[in-house]
Amino acid sequence: MPKLIVLSAPSGAGKTTLCLKLLRDFPQLELSISTTTRAPRGLEKGGVDYHFVTQDHFKAQIAANRFAEWALVHGNYYGTSKDVIESAFGAGKSILLDIDVQGAASLKKAYPQECVSFFISPPSLVVLEQRLRSRGTDSEESIQKRLNNSREEMARAADFDHTIVNDELDRAYSELCSRIDSALGAFHG
Ligand code: 5GP
Repeated sequence: MPKLIVLSAPSGAGKTTLCLKLLRDFPQLELSISTTTRAPRGLEKGGVDYHFVTQDHFKAQIAANRFAEWALVHGNYYGTSKDVIESAFGAGKSILLDIDVQGAASLKKAYPQECVSFFISPPSLVVLEQRLRSRGTDSEESIQKRLNNSREEMARAADFDHTIVNDELDRAYSELCSRIDSALGAFHG
């Protein structure tokens, strides 16, 4: 049965790196491209990193019941469209989702059989702050917003099927891989 592999983490916990490695090593996983009202950052491209839309467009999609889950994160809307899940499942593919803790909880409710959720935790909030600052892409205000959010998100780690502490990338990745291997019932290269 195709699965929804959900990764949630405070921003700066190393989730993006882990997702990229998973997509390289698990060809049976397809990345879910979310829809968002936030503006593109750096080299981000529409249709690749996100589908970037206006608030009006996003709200119309909510009203039309086109989202499997959606949430307001750091003041912007983010959502997973049902089309993404239906077309991947139709092709027998499992999906990798990089979504926030609210979205993870909604998907678990909507797809209890298919959803396998992972909370990627930074070793500490101090390390998280250092990582956010060294990334150099966020304003001070955005960093503070993200740190506050992270405190709340870390309190919800217990809602997830698994917590992976990203203390050391290779170790965290191999723990994640073996969990996903058992969830998908297959072994990767
Ligand atoms: P960023 O703006 O840094 O790309 O993402 C901010 C947060 O929104 C991250 O925690 C990311 O996982 C989350 N996010 C991205 N796409 C979705 C989505 O489709 N649904 C939900 N609920 N959260 C999302």
